[in-house]
Amino acid sequence: MNATKTRLAGKTIVVTGAAGGIGAAIVGRLEHAGAEVIALDRTSTAAPPVRGFDVTDAQQWRTLADGHAGPIHGLVNCAGITRRARLQEVTPADMTDTYAVNVLAPLLAIQTLSPLMPVGASIVNIGSIAALTAHYPVAYTTSKWAVRGLTHTAALALGESGIRVNIVHPGFIDTPMTASAPDAFRSASIGETALGRAGSVADVAGTVEFLLSDDAAYITGSEITVDGGATSHGGVKSISDALRTATTASSITKESA
Ligand code: NAP
Repeated sequence: MNATKTRLAGKTIVVTGAAGGIGAAIVGRLEHAGAEVIALDRTSTAAPPVRGFDVTDAQQWRTLADGHAGPIHGLVNCAGITRRARLQEVTPADMTDTYAVNVLAPLLAIQTLSPLMPVGASIVNIGSIAALTAHYPVAYTTSKWAVRGLTHTAALALGESGIRVNIVHPGFIDTPMTASAPDAFRSASIGETALGRAGSVADVAGTVEFLLSDDAAYITGSEITVDGGATSHGGVKSISDALRTATTASSITKESA
């Protein structure tokens, strides 16, 4: 029997942002692992079935919870939006819009679904390497730092109920969200990545599957970067690369002298 096809068998898992790049990959991965997935997104789709749902609407979460029979074993808070304004240009609307989707919505989801969760259930928030750095878009970065805080608070609060809460921080992943960024953002991001490539949605989905599974039974309050090493060097990659270029140039000069 293929282990990956049964890893999440019997589990019901809610995924938000399910019509987006990373969310759709997570849904596919979880279904492949045997889970029954309740896929939610602002944009509903017929195939695969994604239910139209505004994650910022507390009443819609209440209706979902009240109308669901049986336990919920997992929740993936993947819906997210970005606003790219810098410090002096960011507006109050940028801040409230990003916080509503990236912070308030995961809180509402956790508040309404955790009472339906049995011991061993798992919640995965999708953060970002923006939550670990001084990434320039202020509204997005601060909202991701906030959901990181929510993750740790929820892990502590729900630990006594046997519910695990973790956060995954993707680096630069090719999706509709990043497709709207300038080309310079993509190339500079890859330039800071130890593995020298953009991440794929499958890279993130595999980590999420692991955290939802019983293989991660003793992991809670943890942060896992899926960033190709972009944050591990603390910003010194460009220095290292510059010195390598300088060293190579100087040895060529010496050899040819
Ligand atoms: P995406 O393709 O834009 O997917 C996000 C999905 O969330 C979209 O389908 C979006 O719908 C939906 N959504 C937004 N607001 C919603 C709401 N109020 N209610 C329900 N659904 C809503 O983006 P992605 O790249 O897959 O990102 C997924 C997550 O990964 C986000 O949390 C993002 O911050 C995080 N992340 C992404 C990257 C990356 O490089 N791509 C890196 C780090 C972290 P609309 O299309 O209608 O807005």
